[in-house]
Amino acid sequence: MIGGADSVHSAVQGRGWARHRTGPTLANLDFSCCAACGKCCHDLRLPLTRAEAIAWLRRGDTVEILCEALPWLEEPEAADRRAQYRRGRSFGALSGELPIRVVAILTAVHAGACPNLDERLRCSIYQERPHVCRIYPAEISPFIALAPASKLCPPEAWTAAAPLLRDDAVVDDEVRAHVAQSREADAREARWKRTLCANLGIGSAVLVNEGFAVHAPPLDRLLEALGQDEVGDGRLTCPSWTLVSNQARRVDALAAVGAQACLAPADDAGPVRYIGLP
Ligand code: SF4
Ligand code: SF4
Repeated sequence: MIGGADSVHSAVQGRGWARHRTGPTLANLDFSCCAACGKCCHDLRLPLTRAEAIAWLRRGDTVEILCEALPWLEEPEAADRRAQYRRGRSFGALSGELPIRVVAILTAVHAGACPNLDERLRCSIYQERPHVCRIYPAEISPFIALAPASKLCPPEAWTAAAPLLRDDAVVDDEVRAHVAQSREADAREARWKRTLCANLGIGSAVLVNEGFAVHAPPLDRLLEALGQDEVGDGRLTCPSWTLVSNQARRVDALAAVGAQACLAPADDAGPVRYIGLP
């Protein structure tokens, strides 16, 4: 289904993830999951809230942490909605001497069918499924327009007389409520994720819009860390994050302003994997 991302069916295209949409977007759109095809329940990268990640792990399934970061030299204007949104779902940190903000995304990961998809292509945890499953094919980010061509739903799903978008706004009450709850959790948990990352020894992130650093701590350790609350006085924080880029000139530019930066690894041999955005 990472943010921001999503191969599993595409490194960053799953529920709630793709940033680069293909195909036209429509201000008014009807949709109904009439087909029950289960396509969106395969090859997952599902962004999860803290509670959803705990439940996912307790069922014995896999959760990873995807990190992206960007330099943050000054606070944005209040009217800069995009920057304020980014600020609200990130935490402040340092890369060497450079102030940055880090977005850490708890992500359910599965190649092939979701472990909760039964043989009749029904969700076996329907009443407890994550927000992102209830939102699809709508978008969580207010800055990503819904492009049907980038979704997995068959053509007939878009012809039902069930309004989903009107004037670019979600009008389905249930979807709208889950979008709001997902965004609230993102904002509420952003600072706590600094403690989470520190507890797990996580300190690298890919430059925003390039991809994600994928951290896969042992699942029992991750479950324990998810239960630990925020340490708010800065005692528990990574002293310096490493910024990863797939472009040498960006690494050089970051190093020139005092950041700790390195090139993305060419393979997945190290402890941290790298997902590049298309
Ligand atoms: S939790 Fe349910 S709805 Fe979500 S991907 Fe898995 S099977 Fe599909
Ligand atoms: S891909 Fe679309 S139509 Fe198929 S099950 Fe998922 S939401 Fe429903």
